[in-house]
Amino acid sequence: MTITVKKNLVSEAKYDLKCPNPMTAEYITIHNTANDASAANEISYMTGNTSSTSFHFAVDDKEVIQGLPLNRNAWHTGDGTNGTGNRKSIGVEICYSKSGGAKYKAAEKLAIKFVAQLLKERGWGIDRVRKHQDWNGKYCPHRILSEGRWNEVKAAIEAELKSLGGKTSSSKTNTTKKTTTSSSKKKTSYALPSGIYKVKSPMMKGASVTQIQKALAALYFYPDKGAKNNGIDGVYGPKTANAVKRFQLMHGLSADGIYGPKTKAKLEALL
Ligand SMILES: [Zn+2]
Repeated sequence: MTITVKKNLVSEAKYDLKCPNPMTAEYITIHNTANDASAANEISYMTGNTSSTSFHFAVDDKEVIQGLPLNRNAWHTGDGTNGTGNRKSIGVEICYSKSGGAKYKAAEKLAIKFVAQLLKERGWGIDRVRKHQDWNGKYCPHRILSEGRWNEVKAAIEAELKSLGGKTSSSKTNTTKKTTTSSSKKKTSYALPSGIYKVKSPMMKGASVTQIQKALAALYFYPDKGAKNNGIDGVYGPKTANAVKRFQLMHGLSADGIYGPKTKAKLEALL
């Protein structure tokens, strides 16, 4: 039985923010929302807010809702402007993962069927399925991971795919083109300062702090996600230090929340 997808697509006026680049997808990435909202609410929140974070589908216990066109990229895997996750993968969010329970179970079940259907439509195998964690190390899909069930979920998708008569592994066609070249968006450069920046009294502030904050935000380590302008305010306060700490932790640096030469070098290498 084919799963019907309800569409509630982002307005074209927001393409620049949510899905600026054309995309020929090669992967499907699975997420947990870490929320208790329905698919309809996840999608309308995503398409309506001013954050760049975006994804293609939300699946709950009752339905699948699409928020972005599949021929455009989404910002959902934290692997940067030209990351393969962000530029070549379709993002599927499974709802109700925060509290879990029957609603989550049903959402996951529907997502498994839906992902199998996407694979079948594209002639892809299970080898095209990724978890968010594979792209940037983020602990997502958190519920599947914490319950130690990633392999089980993959196996369930594969079994479903087989029952649809799909292939179990993809042929190596149309994966030749490299991701980065066709970008219509220019790479932004950041004038990252060379000094040491940390939380102290009085607070360090100014344009150089703004550069650090913007660089962090570009890599999805927002100083204060949800705040106005994502907390980019030119003040090196505790939230910025925290963002630096998370960045350091994720990239094998000592996580002290102090911006110095090593953090600068790592940021520059990734931007
Ligand atoms: Zn995720």
